[in-house]
Amino acid sequence: MTTPPPGPLPFPDSLCHRCAAPPRYVQSRTSTFIMCPLLPQKYPPQPVRLCAMFRPKEPAPSR
Ligand code: SF4
Repeated sequence: MTTPPPGPLPFPDSLCHRCAAPPRYVQSRTSTFIMCPLLPQKYPPQPVRLCAMFRPKEPAPSR
């Protein structure tokens, strides 16, 4: 399940937002963290600009 971002995206230029992993958005009282389901360390240093595990998110089916 994709977790919808709860507010303004942190690091809008991060590759994670466009990744099919899909990343999860974990919100604390003051910030939103991007949690990667694939990487062992879960929270890669942001913004992620290059990632060997990146796969582009499929565009939503249109009809
Ligand atoms: S696989 Fe890479 S690009 Fe995708 S969510 Fe994880 S860290 Fe971000």
